[in-house]
Amino acid sequence: MLKAVTRCLWSNPVAGRRMMSHHIPQNLSGKVAIVTASTDGIGLAAAEALGLRGAHVVVSSRRQTNVDKAVSLLQSKKIKVIGTTCNVGKAEDRDKLINMTIEQCGGVDILVSNAAVNPFFGNILDSTEEVWDKILGVNVKASFLLTKQVVPHMEKRGGGSVVIVSSVAGYQPMQGLGPYSVSKTALLGLTRALAPDLAHSNIRINCVAPGIIKTRFSAALWENKSVLEEFLKLTSIKRLGQPEEIGGVIAFLCSDEASYITGETITVTGGMNSRL
Ligand code: NAP
Repeated sequence: MLKAVTRCLWSNPVAGRRMMSHHIPQNLSGKVAIVTASTDGIGLAAAEALGLRGAHVVVSSRRQTNVDKAVSLLQSKKIKVIGTTCNVGKAEDRDKLINMTIEQCGGVDILVSNAAVNPFFGNILDSTEEVWDKILGVNVKASFLLTKQVVPHMEKRGGGSVVIVSSVAGYQPMQGLGPYSVSKTALLGLTRALAPDLAHSNIRINCVAPGIIKTRFSAALWENKSVLEEFLKLTSIKRLGQPEEIGGVIAFLCSDEASYITGETITVTGGMNSRL
């Protein structure tokens, strides 16, 4: 039995560890990329993937110490990077992020809207107006407002690319995470709603819907072994995803290799069922 399992893993590398490519094309050199919530997890991995492909990246999150750490980490990998604090829920912080990018990097070509909060876990009927305002404000409204704000700058560069980070929970609401799941469904709609108008400005907008990725945000889903086992039953590839496995997909969507893709969502879930 064990032998059969081992043989299966050997002949099917996708079921085991991911194969890392050593050659990373410099297909984003000259591009400037803003990634929100990029001092940890998926955002940091996206910043790294974009930076390794030659983009000048702008990292941000709420806490200065986290920004400083992310900037030094990316610099140690020879990535061109600047950073600032930005709580995406605050208009003045969004302004600061965009203004600093224009002043210090000369323009913007790529926006990855990755920030999300989830202040509520429980029965959806117990969620309050305050919870909904917070979740929709940060996860949905801020994604739209940031996109709207970068459009004129992207137009000046002749076009650009926006990637929004949704979730598999946007397809199938997760138990206990009702309002958060609804906000992630809204992002699938936002991507489609914006695509035709942004196409007039040669801006593509796409979405990535990760499954369960090993980050601090999802710790409640993987710290407890039996909870993790239940979630892994839903996957084909029986392991958690790593942030880099989302970062690479985001970088692909931002590159010219994805030049005919817009209004699309790519699910990156290890095979979890996802449909609306
Ligand atoms: P993470 O590892 O916990 O990182 C969260 C990042 O967001 C940190 O850099 C944090 O830094 C920053 N942040 C939090 N609130 C912010 C705000 N209001 N404004 C700006 N930055 C903020 O989380 P993650 O798992 O990578 O999640 C990133 C995105 O992926 C989210 O949109 C999440 O919904 C989505 N997602 C995650 C999973 C998963 O399984 N992990 C699955 C599907 C979708 P500070 O504390 O310094 O602000």
